[in-house]
Amino acid sequence: MGSYKSLKNPLSERFQDQILALRKERQTCAAIAQQLGISTVTVSRILSAQGPLRPLHANPRDLTGERFGKLVVVEQLNSKRCICVCDCGKRKNVYRPSLKNGCIRSCGCLRGEWRQRLHGARPRV
Ligand SMILES: [Zn+2]
Repeated sequence: MGSYKSLKNPLSERFQDQILALRKERQTCAAIAQQLGISTVTVSRILSAQGPLRPLHANPRDLTGERFGKLVVVEQLNSKRCICVCDCGKRKNVYRPSLKNGCIRSCGCLRGEWRQRLHGARPRV
C-alpha cells in the first residue's frame, strides 16, 4: 500500500475506485470486501455514499449440483438463469431466484402432486 497522509477516510479514498469497478461487474458487497480485504460494512458504506444503487438480487455463487425439490442444477447460464434436471428426467431453464426462494421445485410435474395434497394452496411449480 502506498503512503497516505490524511487519516480521514483513508479506506474510502484508497478503495473507492476499485469498489466501484467491481460493483459494475455486479459483484456483491461481500464479494468485493473479500477481494479487497476490507469489511463488508466499509464496502456498503462507500457504495451508499455514491448515491442510490440498484439492488443486487443476483448471487454469483455457483449452484451447480445443488438440489431444489425435484430439480438439480446442472448448468449455470448466468446470474439469473440456470439449467436444471428434474427427477422425472426433463431439463428445464429456470429463473434462479425462484429456485432459491422455493417457488420452483420441479419441471412442472410436481404441480399435480401439490394439487392433490394441498387443495388450493398451490405454489408456482
Ligand atoms: Zn419433472
